[in-house]
Amino acid sequence: MQSVATIAIDGPAASGKSAVGVALARHLGYRFFDTGAMYRAVTWLALRRGIDVHDGPALAALAHSTDVAVRDTPDDAIEPTGVIVDGQDATPHLREAEVEANVSLVSRVPAVRETLVRIQRELAGAGSVVMAGRDIGSVVLRDAGLKVYLDASVAVRARRRAAQMREAGLEPNLEALMADLARRDGIDSSRQASPLTAAPDAVIINTDTLTIEEVVRRIEALAHA
Ligand code: C5P
Repeated sequence: MQSVATIAIDGPAASGKSAVGVALARHLGYRFFDTGAMYRAVTWLALRRGIDVHDGPALAALAHSTDVAVRDTPDDAIEPTGVIVDGQDATPHLREAEVEANVSLVSRVPAVRETLVRIQRELAGAGSVVMAGRDIGSVVLRDAGLKVYLDASVAVRARRRAAQMREAGLEPNLEALMADLARRDGIDSSRQASPLTAAPDAVIINTDTLTIEEVVRRIEALAHA
């Protein structure tokens, strides 16, 4: 049976895109790329260089001059996508609180998006791929053979994120997690450049009551259809 070669998975923060994407790619023998990791890496570099995240021109200059190299690291449970920016490995820093707090401000800058979208298209052009993000079906890979939009309520997403944090030995504050997810979704959905949105031809899956495996099975069925 023939499967589609390019699968786009979009959705809000903590909707399960990476967990689903990794498992799906493994089942299909495809490569997986989490584009959020790329925006996080550029944010990390900007903070490290002391760039004001509200300074669009400075962020644009950074995006134009920075060399971004992406590695798929499928066996890394935490970061399936590794990112090297200007020769420095940003991967261990992608989930740091400061990065989390600022990434939506950096990713709304059009020049940052242009640079990263170009790289994302190159990655997808190199073979069968599952790619996750916010604008993959609507902008980056408009011709994707299958587009999926994963949705879930903010309460469910916060509970899932809290469970992951507990597994990592942290003590999450559920209220604060919900507030942060809602804040990030707000910026991502209302920005001018490529806002978070379901492409008109995307299949929308609400994952509130589904396990990762159930979501993967649904997408696989769509990919084979
Ligand atoms: O998916 P993740 O939560 O790691 O994404 C981090 C942030 O990167 C998002 O909140 C969003 O601001 C940005 N992003 C984006 N476009 C993508 C992927 C992520 O703007 N394709």
